[in-house]
Amino acid sequence: MDATPIWIAGSPEHGGEVLTVTHPYDGSEVGSTTHATPEQVERAVSAAAAVAAEAAALPVHVRAAALDHVSRTLADRHEEVARLITAENGKPITWARAEVGRAVGTFRWAAEETRRFDATTQDLGADAAMAGRLAVTRRFPRGPVLGISPFNFPLNLVAHKVAPAIAVGAPIVLKPAPATPLSALLLGEILAETGLPDGMFSVFCVPNEQAPALVADERLPVVSFTGSVPVGWSIADAVPRKRVTLELGGNAAVLVCADWSSEEDLDWAATRVATFSNYQAGQSCIAVQRVYAHASVYEELAARVVEKAAALRDGDPAEEDVVVGPLINAEAAKRVEEWVNEAVAAGGRVLTGGKRYGASFEPTVLADVPASAKVVADEVFGPVCVVASVDSLDEGLAAINDSRFGLQAGIFTHDTATAFRAHRELDVGGVIIGDVPSFRADQMPYGGARDSGTGREGLRSAMDDYTEARVLVLRT
Ligand code: NAD
Repeated sequence: MDATPIWIAGSPEHGGEVLTVTHPYDGSEVGSTTHATPEQVERAVSAAAAVAAEAAALPVHVRAAALDHVSRTLADRHEEVARLITAENGKPITWARAEVGRAVGTFRWAAEETRRFDATTQDLGADAAMAGRLAVTRRFPRGPVLGISPFNFPLNLVAHKVAPAIAVGAPIVLKPAPATPLSALLLGEILAETGLPDGMFSVFCVPNEQAPALVADERLPVVSFTGSVPVGWSIADAVPRKRVTLELGGNAAVLVCADWSSEEDLDWAATRVATFSNYQAGQSCIAVQRVYAHASVYEELAARVVEKAAALRDGDPAEEDVVVGPLINAEAAKRVEEWVNEAVAAGGRVLTGGKRYGASFEPTVLADVPASAKVVADEVFGPVCVVASVDSLDEGLAAINDSRFGLQAGIFTHDTATAFRAHRELDVGGVIIGDVPSFRADQMPYGGARDSGTGREGLRSAMDDYTEARVLVLRT
């Protein structure tokens, strides 16, 4: 199998050391690529810096047309791209198709946003001393963006970095995750068809030990990172003067309130909890991990979650009716196994699942787990949720906030006062009412509080982050 080319300043090239990509489910070789050599990295970064002024001056219609082209091409190649995602990441084919659909939407929405990303004007005459002046504010790119992405959504999390960069006219150097570089490299192929200037984009992997040098490079003033907590915050510490966006981990919680009590309510909540604690085999930063339910609905809810989680079909992700695939590798599944064993040793009960096979882990529901156990306190990043009963809304909200993470939370309630209170009091980036926290739309700001990160994605938020306001004051 030929190595998939990397993209250096818009052109396909081969690098040095080979990076082999294996299928998480059966260990077969899916493909390979090559690490960029130091000389190639230098060319990619210097080309990005050299083209920055030209990129910033690209007319809106050119940027929008490029984004529309990527969206359309991903739609045309939907099935091929989905199969590639399944092969390198191991997620079930139906979820992979959903991811491609998301990326199609992300690029289409970016084209919309770039058409709206307009100057604002202010008549300064409201202040007598400023009368006769008009301020015109436009946002200009800060400069080339370094995007670093994780393995769990190999296409769509790349789209969240690339699309806003093109939308504002900023060059981007993208370093995808070593386990799943092929979808990002395929996106490079599509970007090359857009006719954007050379140097506007590069896509390649380097060994992790070489990534800090890229982060530190002064020619890349914006760093957009999605990945684990320790790596993310080490980046923020290393480059305090750069604009750094960190989308990091979480242990997302739901609270099922006492008023969410009809058959229909509980069935919906249990279906959503079971589905979204296990989607992507739990390897989503907003997968449901902690489930709190008011004591009056707890038994019924827990029983339904167990029934629905047990019914989820796990196995070979290429099969149409499999909804839970393997984790990214056997080490990841062994870590989840250790954490579940630790919870059981501390008094936890396995209500369903609990077993590992190869890189896979059965959909698992635990109860009676102490809050200090890793499956509650840390990010499990596997198909595991922990159910617990609370006696009041106060206790439920406090339990959600009792975490070093703060990405999103889901509150099942019909009561608007409860919704507004949760919005006010939960220290998270987003509160989802009547549903699980595993919800992200490109129109909304998305990101976390506390250890979960800083800054926001979502097209418009990322475009703001990649740019800085500059004012033009005119005498009228
Ligand atoms: P990771 O931190 O191991 O790797 C992420 C990326 O960082 C990879 O491209 C990796 O090669 C690179 N990297 C590794 N060391 C680096 C260094 N020293 N300097 C710069 N880059 C370096 O994360 P992962 O295991 O690929 O992804 C899982 C994590 O990502 C989980 O914690 C998950 O919650 C988080 N995540 C967060 C979001 C979000 O939007 N908040 C979304 C998806 C995943």
